[in-house]
Amino acid sequence: MIAIYPGSFDPITLGHLDLIGRGSRLFERVIVAVLRNPNKMPLFSVQQRLDQIRHSTQHLPNVEVDSFDGLTVNYAQIRQAQVLLRGLRAVSDFEVELQMAHTNKTLSTQIETVFLATSNEYSFLSSSVVKEIARFGGSIDHLVPPHIALDIYQCYNHNSPMLNPISTETIPPLKSISVDREP
Ligand code: ADP
Repeated sequence: MIAIYPGSFDPITLGHLDLIGRGSRLFERVIVAVLRNPNKMPLFSVQQRLDQIRHSTQHLPNVEVDSFDGLTVNYAQIRQAQVLLRGLRAVSDFEVELQMAHTNKTLSTQIETVFLATSNEYSFLSSSVVKEIARFGGSIDHLVPPHIALDIYQCYNHNSPMLNPISTETIPPLKSISVDREP
């Protein structure tokens, strides 16, 4: 069975990669499909995201990386896929994902949406969280693969905060304050 894993992946995170790894053990083939969305202003171009995902999934022989535009179900039909793979983190994901799965069902009864629950350690993780932390100079080394962390640091024009540990200000010794004593 072939599964499509569609998304923005701007950028791909360890949460996405966890899902891809688990999907690759369940399905004969997983196609990670980057949506070309002209309405979004992404941090990385589609080509950069394709390169980043290919680099991050090169150890998984049954994972392919591609891009598409238009309806996901149409793309799935073209690729002869039977499954749309999606991840669920919180109740907020569930509402959106359920609506999307129902909508897709009305467009094609042949294609099933399969949800994988996030692994506990990635339940808070999203591409937006990664960008937000990096924008304000925090470390994202524990959230994305190392080569993607470098790409992101370059975008925000700073090095890994791990290389620039926060310097603590030396507090000067208190000057002795001359207190006018009462006679
Ligand atoms: P989209 O713009 O389609 O939501 P994303 O790249 O944000 O694209 O996400 C693609 C899919 O991956 C979605 O189903 C999302 O719920 C899932 N996902 C994202 N982050 C995680 C995570 N940390 N754990 C599990 N699933 C995730």
